Amino acid sequence: MGKVNCRNCEKETDGDLECCKFCGCPLCSEYEQKIVRIKIPGDITTGLSRLLFSTDVEITDRTDTILWMGRQGEDAGFFVKEPTRITIHLGGIAKPVDGIVRPGKRYCLSQVGGIHLRPVYALCEIPLE
Ligand SMILES: [Zn+2]
Repeated sequence: MGKVNCRNCEKETDGDLECCKFCGCPLCSEYEQKIVRIKIPGDITTGLSRLLFSTDVEITDRTDTILWMGRQGEDAGFFVKEPTRITIHLGGIAKPVDGIVRPGKRYCLSQVGGIHLRPVYALCEIPLE
C-alpha cells in the first residue's frame, strides 16, 4: 500500500495505518474508502433450526484471521487493503461461502442452490450508483 498525505499535518504517512503516525489524525477518508460491506441475509437459518443451530456469522481471510463477526441479517463491514480472498461462515448448516472482495465494494449473498436447511450462497458485487 502506498503513502498518503495527512490532511491535518500534511506529512507523508503510511496509508495502511488508521491514523497518521505523526499527529494521530484519523486517515478517515482513506480508511472509509476501503471498507467492504456485505449484506448478510436474515433468512439463512429459519424455523425450528434456529433453535438448534447458531445464527452467528464469521468472516475470515485465508489465514483464518477474523475480519468480522456478527449475526445473520446484519450488514458486515471490514477493512481490506487489497483484493482479499475471504470465507463467510454463515451459521446453521449453510455451506461456507468463498469469494474475493475488493476494497470499497459492496456485496450481497444470493442463494444459488441447496435445499431449505443447507442453502448454498454466492457472493455478488452490488454496482455502485
Ligand atoms: Zn498528521
